[in-house]
Amino acid sequence: MSLATHKFCPNCGHPLKPEPNESHTHSLCSGCGQTIYYDPKVAATTVISDNQQVLLVKRGNEPGYGLWSLPGGYVDRGEIVEEAAAREVLEETGLSVKITSLIGVFSQKTHPVIVIAFAGEQISGSIETSDETLAVAFFNIDDLPEMAFPRDTQIIRSWINST
Ligand SMILES: [Zn+2]
Repeated sequence: MSLATHKFCPNCGHPLKPEPNESHTHSLCSGCGQTIYYDPKVAATTVISDNQQVLLVKRGNEPGYGLWSLPGGYVDRGEIVEEAAAREVLEETGLSVKITSLIGVFSQKTHPVIVIAFAGEQISGSIETSDETLAVAFFNIDDLPEMAFPRDTQIIRSWINST
């Protein structure tokens, strides 16, 4: 995914010309001369466990349609990150959860998304699919299904190592 996301200046509407730097972290506006910086996006994801099992969702959206991932999604501007994590779990799985600890912060060079991964536990609710999820299920950590994102496997490994 390219890091440059704007074609036109958000200030004056003129076309933007990407700066000739390798990572495309900013553009220069040809109209007003302002430098437009591309901030990272923040996503929150949660490992909900039950014995040696973790809760996964079968994705109903691209990228990774039909493959499995941890429940999670983008943090809204002004939203508490832990609340975003719990909101995404509820939306995608039907389970109300309490966020219990931070697993870690995961980022990659030239990738715009920073993922903040939490551990959480189920408080109430029962498993339900949503329009974003084809299926929701617990999987044994030694027998995970085909995952949409290598990063989720990395997060689960970090969680296993921290428990
Ligand atoms: Zn401009």
